[in-house]
Amino acid sequence: MQFVRMYGSSGVVWARRVDEARAVVWTDAPWRSGRETARVVDIDRLLAPVEPSKIVCIGRNYAAHARELGNEVPSEPLLFLKPPSALVGTGASILLPPESERVEHEGELAVVIGGRLRRASPERAREAVFGITAANDVTARDLQRKDVQFTRAKGFDTFCPVGPWVETDVGDLGNIDVETRVSGQVRQRANSRAMIFPVPELLSYISNVMTLEPGDLVLTGTPEGVGPLVDGDVVEVEIGGLGAPLVNRVRLERSGSS
Ligand code: ZN
Repeated sequence: MQFVRMYGSSGVVWARRVDEARAVVWTDAPWRSGRETARVVDIDRLLAPVEPSKIVCIGRNYAAHARELGNEVPSEPLLFLKPPSALVGTGASILLPPESERVEHEGELAVVIGGRLRRASPERAREAVFGITAANDVTARDLQRKDVQFTRAKGFDTFCPVGPWVETDVGDLGNIDVETRVSGQVRQRANSRAMIFPVPELLSYISNVMTLEPGDLVLTGTPEGVGPLVDGDVVEVEIGGLGAPLVNRVRLERSGSS
């Protein structure tokens, strides 16, 4: 099943995607108490298909990417957070902030949590995966190098595009294609089998630090090929099995806009 979040006639709704044009409305998110209704709606503008209490990200989970930025391969997962205020859906713009001169894309496989995880085993963590989606861990690389913490470099508004929907038919998490294109040109192409720490181990590791709640989002790290984004670029992140990419246009943030 594919779950979307979108504007409906009565405000923002969760819905199950039926085909390219239509979806069936749910009473709430499927990982909360949501149930399917009989109401069929036209799909219009999609929002990020998540409402996480936190977005947990993994740095340097592909050896080739760690090397391209001159970093060692970590001996245990490197965790950081992005704020939920950075979320946008497919079709929304990524805004280049005036504070940075080098903003880069990081196409990633993202995992949505379906059940609470606290000090969970990898097996239990795997069972608690609700679905997968595509994410772009947009990063102000110059600020990441300048600051000790990643918070500013990774935390600007619009720096976490996610979507277009959550796919619950996950299959083998250790064999999922990840591809990032910028204005039609392939920049990143990899498969989750190249991850240093596989998804169940990542979730288990995170859950030993912080409780993962239903609806939380985990970005599993970016493969090699990260590069700059400029005004007017169109970024697509495509995750195998979703059937459509996450698409976002890049533009300059105008000062004074809200
Ligand atoms: Zn990343």
